[in-house]
Amino acid sequence: MAKQSVMIIGGGLAGLSAAIKLAELECDVSLMSVLPVKRSHSVCAQGGINSVNDLTRQLGDSEWKHFDDTVYGGDFLQHQPPVKELAYWAPKIIDLMDRLGVTFNRTPEGFRDQRRFGGTLYQRTSFAGATTGQQLLYALDEQVRRWEVAGHIHKYEYWDFLGPVLDETGRCRGCVGQDLVNMEIRAFPADALVVASGGCGAIFGRSTNSVACNGAAVSRVYQAGGHLGNAEFIQVHPTAIPGADKLRLISESARGEGGRVWVPRKPQDPRAPQEIPEKERYYFLEERYPTYGNLVPRDIGTREIFKVCMQEGLSVQAGRMCVYLDVTHIPRDQLDRKLAGILEIYEKFQGADPRKVPMKIFPAVHYTMGGLWVDYEPDAKGGLNVGSPRNQQTNIPGLFAIGECEYQYHGANRLGANSLVACIFSGLTVAPGIIAYVNSFKGQKAGELPSGVFDSTRRKHQDYYDGLLKRPQGGPNPYKIHAELGQLMTKSATVVRHNADMLETYAKVCELQQQAARCSISDISPWANQTAPFARALDDMFPVAKAILRGAITRDESRGAHYKPEFSQGELTAAEPAQRRREAEAWVDRFEANNRRWLKSTIAACGAGGEPALSYEAVNTSLIPPRPRLYGLSGGDVIEQVYKERNAAVKKT
Ligand SMILES: Cc1cc2nc3c(=O)[nH]c(=O)nc-3n(C[C@H](O)[C@H](O)[C@H](O)COP(=O)(O)OP(=O)(O)OC[C@H]3O[C@@H](n4cnc5c(N)ncnc54)[C@H](O)[C@@H]3O)c2cc1C
Repeated sequence: MAKQSVMIIGGGLAGLSAAIKLAELECDVSLMSVLPVKRSHSVCAQGGINSVNDLTRQLGDSEWKHFDDTVYGGDFLQHQPPVKELAYWAPKIIDLMDRLGVTFNRTPEGFRDQRRFGGTLYQRTSFAGATTGQQLLYALDEQVRRWEVAGHIHKYEYWDFLGPVLDETGRCRGCVGQDLVNMEIRAFPADALVVASGGCGAIFGRSTNSVACNGAAVSRVYQAGGHLGNAEFIQVHPTAIPGADKLRLISESARGEGGRVWVPRKPQDPRAPQEIPEKERYYFLEERYPTYGNLVPRDIGTREIFKVCMQEGLSVQAGRMCVYLDVTHIPRDQLDRKLAGILEIYEKFQGADPRKVPMKIFPAVHYTMGGLWVDYEPDAKGGLNVGSPRNQQTNIPGLFAIGECEYQYHGANRLGANSLVACIFSGLTVAPGIIAYVNSFKGQKAGELPSGVFDSTRRKHQDYYDGLLKRPQGGPNPYKIHAELGQLMTKSATVVRHNADMLETYAKVCELQQQAARCSISDISPWANQTAPFARALDDMFPVAKAILRGAITRDESRGAHYKPEFSQGELTAAEPAQRRREAEAWVDRFEANNRRWLKSTIAACGAGGEPALSYEAVNTSLIPPRPRLYGLSGGDVIEQVYKERNAAVKKT
């Protein structure tokens, strides 16, 4: 009997983990990546990877608390069983990576060192300096090479995934890809297809993502019938620096090591930051969130920085929005040992040494919480039935999605250092499910199907590509259209969202989509052509951009990273205790009413012209009931009190 053959799209942490596990399970694995896998975006991850550990356990931490922090951080928009399973696997994943040779930082006693990240009070984050993603990726890459030598994995680097091949029943039977060196377009039969293509930051023009993170692969599955989940949830990270090509992250680990965010109390104080005395500094995160301080979750940190700069007029510099991120009080040897990777980035691109002067930072688009919709199968204990073919499977039979390109683990806001662990977890757990899926399928293997099943899809992509090259010169420039798309999306679909503005943007995005369909291709060479694949990816950004906008326009609430001021709950204003209590009662009433209406996932199906058709799916909150997400906001204690009393009353009845 022929062996199972699986095609994986993407060689970041998710794709490589899946490849190794599938090879161990004796599958024939093909791995297609538009970049050499060692340059996948995962290599940029800086700060670390989360799990409960021996140190945090001594302080009362547990897998359950990691799970709780993750769903609270995600504003309860995740199905809880997969998240619970993730939290319980996380310590084993860190041990595995340690054994595979990742050079995690150590304490003088030789134990793994850990730091704190956003949205938790525990030091759960293992790290390798500030280049954790690189160390993890290289360790997995080594294992993949071992399996390549053994003949179980075959890599197709510099190949662009163009779309899945579906049979007449709608089942995925492989994919079509293009070799970006000789431009050959070829079909690949596969018994299962796994998409692990990362985030879509490039839809916002400049972001902290690699420029290859354009969401085109996800869009191609979406256009072929795959559904998107919660596309409107895009994370904007509080601390980044500007750049002409992209925005560069200054990781949360800077705050995890004690970095403090502040602005001078006097607007645009002309003094050098070091000369401004403590009492004239406004440590706004620490003042407003005394419990979590500088490590509030990212959505909250980002909104506070926006507020300080835009509403309170306290941006450090006139004409440029920024606040200080200060690590100058931390001993130099600690900075060099734990944060060298990011300090070097700042020094190189901003020309100042952050060991001596506070960094100037501002929020930037960073992470895609939404993505391809995937299924899961819960077990009796509230976790996952690992090995079920439903896990990580999209609505297209035989097509699976893992890593940042799917929507499952982070809800409305991802906690820092939770992505790397989710990527590896989803990669490892998808493998046994695929084996079960392939073994239970009674039809012909993909490799035995008549070639006609593949030829028509291959022909469609070939015709589209040939058409691109034949477009007349003098049409719109695809790079300019992309820049315009990015500006529009960043302006209206990031930190603060208004319906009127997004509706206007939607109309402009539709116009840009039409222009993109007419854009000229300046390079028509048949060898290593970069312009035509870029124009193709640009075309594919529009359906996803429209799903992001439509989902955001329709969701009339504020949840995690999705913030509409007119639907957000303000702080309590009354000072008199009885009145304050009444205000808190009304606050909790609105919170509960909002959850009844909006605690559901947005599901987008792609219609003609990339128009999304939206429906909604109930969220499984069977393990931890949703609660107000206040993070110790000063003055928020009365709300928490009211909520707890009500919940206790509900439990008694
Ligand atoms: C600057 C930065 C720092 C971060 N730091 C952290 C951190 O400290 N901790 C944490 O938990 N998370 C962090 N994150 C998030 C984390 O890095 C990512 O979510 C994660 O690495 C994504 O991994 P992935 O395997 O899903 O995708 P990626 O690593 O993005 O890999 C995607 C793969 O898909 C391939 N691909 C894409 N499109 C196509 C196509 N059309 N055809 C063929 N192949 C394709 C690419 O070549 C690549 O191999 C950070 C993110 C950024 C931007």
